[in-house]
Amino acid sequence: MTFNFIKNIQNYSEEISQASRYIGQGFTVTFDHMNRRPITIHYPYEKLTPSERFRGRIHFEFDKCIACEVCVRVCPINLPVVDYEFKSSIKKKQLKSYSIDFGVCIFCGNCVEYCPTNCLSMTEEYELSVYDRHELNFDHTALGRLPVATYLSSPTKPSIN
Ligand code: SF4
Ligand code: SF4
Repeated sequence: MTFNFIKNIQNYSEEISQASRYIGQGFTVTFDHMNRRPITIHYPYEKLTPSERFRGRIHFEFDKCIACEVCVRVCPINLPVVDYEFKSSIKKKQLKSYSIDFGVCIFCGNCVEYCPTNCLSMTEEYELSVYDRHELNFDHTALGRLPVATYLSSPTKPSIN
């Protein structure tokens, strides 16, 4: 009887010490995080600075395009739509319209990489949310719009990679 009582007390003490250890471990994690800088920001009031090689909305320069369609061939989903007319008088293709649907684009950057005239470039624009997905089909006028620097530079904040 006395032996059982001592055994129970012993077990109880072990459980208390184990629980205290777990609580201590939990607080270690909490205190460790208290010393760290916050990762999250108050978007959209604060915005992260995209990194230099960030692949955002594509910019297109109509005048530089030679309608070669390399961008279509290197695109994994043949996405860019290049509409042109062959001018036999000058023996050249003349670009009529160009479009990319950002609702489908995977922002791989292949078209930008392989365009022979560098008329495509990736911008830092990442705010592409719309109510209607068809609005993400950018024609050459929309693609030619210069990116709006919507973010606020903040050297203390981490950047988007
Ligand atoms: S690869 Fe460049 S030049 Fe050729 S069609 Fe595409 S955007 Fe135009
Ligand atoms: S970024 Fe990639 S998926 Fe988008 S149009 Fe260019 S090649 Fe196609």
